[in-house]
Amino acid sequence: MTLLDEIAAQVRTCTRCRLCEGRRHAVPGVGPPDARIMFIGEGPGRDEDERGEPFVGKAGEALTILLRNNGIARDEVFITNVVKCRPPENRDPRPDEIEACREYLDGQIAAIAPALICTLGRWALQTLLDPAASVMKLNGTVVEREGLTYVPLIHPAAGLHNDNMREPIKQGFAALGRIIADYR
Ligand code: URA
Ligand code: SF4
Repeated sequence: MTLLDEIAAQVRTCTRCRLCEGRRHAVPGVGPPDARIMFIGEGPGRDEDERGEPFVGKAGEALTILLRNNGIARDEVFITNVVKCRPPENRDPRPDEIEACREYLDGQIAAIAPALICTLGRWALQTLLDPAASVMKLNGTVVEREGLTYVPLIHPAAGLHNDNMREPIKQGFAALGRIIADYR
C-alpha cells in the first residue's frame, strides 16, 4: 500500500473530530499519486459525502470546466479538501476541525510532492498560507513558501451563487493555465 493509500484508509475510519458523526462517507481525495498539480478545496458537500469523492457535484462540474478550458485534464491532478468529512448543512469548517484534519492534508502534500498547490477558496488559502490572506487579492498569483509553490484561486462554487464572481474566477484559472506551463 502506498503512503497515499494508507492516509486514505485512515481518513475513511477517522473519528478525530465531530465531523465524523454526520458523514456518510469520508472523502480522502482522488488523483494520481505522482500528480504535478494538487487542488485543495474546503470540504465535501452533499454529493461528495454520498459518493466519497471530492468535487463531484455542481462545484465539481464548474471546476472540471474551468480546468478543461485552460488545458488541464481533471485526471492529471490530485483533488482533495481541507476537511475530509462534510460539515453539517455545509457550514464553514471550524478551527479545531481543520486542526484535527491537518495531518492528513500535510501527509498528502508530502506524499505527492506536487510542483504546484492550488488552493480553492479562503479555507485552503488561510490554512496553508496565512490566516489573514485575501483570496480576491491573491487569486491567480504565484506564492512561494517553504519550498512549496502555491496558486491561490477563488472557489469555483462562488460563481454558482454570485454572477459577479464569474469573471474573476475565470481570470484566476486562466492565469493558472499560463503558470502551469512552467511546472508540468
Ligand atoms: N466544494 C469543496 O470545497 N469541496 C468539494 O469536494 C466539493 C465542493
Ligand atoms: Fe477525521 Fe478529518 Fe473527518 Fe474530522 S474531518 S473526522 S479529522 S477525517
